[in-house]
Amino acid sequence: KVIAHRDSVEKDVHAYLSLSDAKALEKAAEVDAKIAAGEEISDLAGIPGAIKDNICISGETCTAASRMLEHWVAPYDATVIEKLKQQDFISIGKTNMDEFAMGSSTENSAFGPTRNPWNLDYVPGGSSGGSAAAVAAIEAVWALGSDTGGSIRQPASFNGIVGLKPTYGLVSRYGLLAFASSLDQIGGLTKDVTDAAILLNAIAGYDAKDSTSIPQDKKDYKKALVNNVKGMKIGVPREFFGEGIKPETKEAVKKALAFYEKEGAELVDVSIPHINSGVSVYYIIAPAEASSNLARYDGVGFGYRAEGKDIIDMYIKTRSTGFGEEVKRRIMLGNYVLSAGYYDAYYLKALKVRTLLKQEFDEVYKSCDVIAAPSASGTSFKFGAFSDPLSLYMEDICTVPVNLIGAPSISIPVGFHEGMPLGMQLIGKPLGEETIIQAAYTFE
Ligand code: GLN
Repeated sequence: KVIAHRDSVEKDVHAYLSLSDAKALEKAAEVDAKIAAGEEISDLAGIPGAIKDNICISGETCTAASRMLEHWVAPYDATVIEKLKQQDFISIGKTNMDEFAMGSSTENSAFGPTRNPWNLDYVPGGSSGGSAAAVAAIEAVWALGSDTGGSIRQPASFNGIVGLKPTYGLVSRYGLLAFASSLDQIGGLTKDVTDAAILLNAIAGYDAKDSTSIPQDKKDYKKALVNNVKGMKIGVPREFFGEGIKPETKEAVKKALAFYEKEGAELVDVSIPHINSGVSVYYIIAPAEASSNLARYDGVGFGYRAEGKDIIDMYIKTRSTGFGEEVKRRIMLGNYVLSAGYYDAYYLKALKVRTLLKQEFDEVYKSCDVIAAPSASGTSFKFGAFSDPLSLYMEDICTVPVNLIGAPSISIPVGFHEGMPLGMQLIGKPLGEETIIQAAYTFE
């Protein structure tokens, strides 16, 4: 049924880059047989999902929405896929995204944009725009995305669904095409908080193949699906409610916070001054790491190769024609901030401010269990609304601070403005997924 529905709306939405119906139907029959035989099945077994096209599934193309990897077939499974396979998961396709996860609108896909199912003139957000639109349009029941600076939470917000970015290190990055390794994290996009907990159960856990994976005991996040916020302390940082945030967003988030207060939570007015430097710091660190991570796409090891008169010419032509404008902009920016003479002034300074930001968050965590913030400055916007890249970067103000400190955050729908959804984030302490799931569940 999901496949049939997908086929009826996909020509408008364009959430997918490739489909895997034959394999999906085969798996569904296997799960049916297990049920018929009275075997116990997992929560996710047989539920059709979709996977962002920067996560490797053995034998399937993994393009990162780039010409560079248009025909590249992944030779192995990402750890999250391996885990999902153990749960008899079903993937009905790989979803569209901004090229190499660089963007906030899915307009940077080399294979055409995804459209927001609430209104096709609007962007679905990004970079996991295909995953979010697929879930919102019921073209999949759940989807995996990746979040380096907001790419799960902002599209979740723009599509009126739930998006959970886990603590850095909780979910293995093995098999996720790297963008900015100190910030990247895989997470789920789902229609509600219960599904978010189920999906996190399936993908979380230590992995020796990811050197930044956190050794930890397995938790059951479904236990956090409790309707109670009595005594919970919710920090409300002034900096997240400044000039750049639209009045309708502030109003919707404040209404949600009033609900929490009524339910017995305590709102704490706090300040995290370096939130205001978040975008500047992010747009130095993320491109710096990207310039290094993307050096491997040289026409030799992976995917696309252009003809050249010698090897240097081949490198240049491959990278000039294989990457899109935004990816090239980030690579140049990253090489610039890492180059001799500029390293201290930009990269090193950004690392120092990142530490200050972390210290300020840690201070707030001493008196708060959760921190509330908008997921984006407003609702989704129309295609082409941001003609210059810098003003689109500024849109990431609410989400990037969370990646810089590695904390978990869940975006939940909190209302509408002119027919388009608005979202709020509940940011937890590192490894505090249970608390934000509980708070989110109580609101739902
Ligand atoms: N919008 C941000 C960027 O363009 C975040 C992207 C992401 O989280 N992958 O880098």
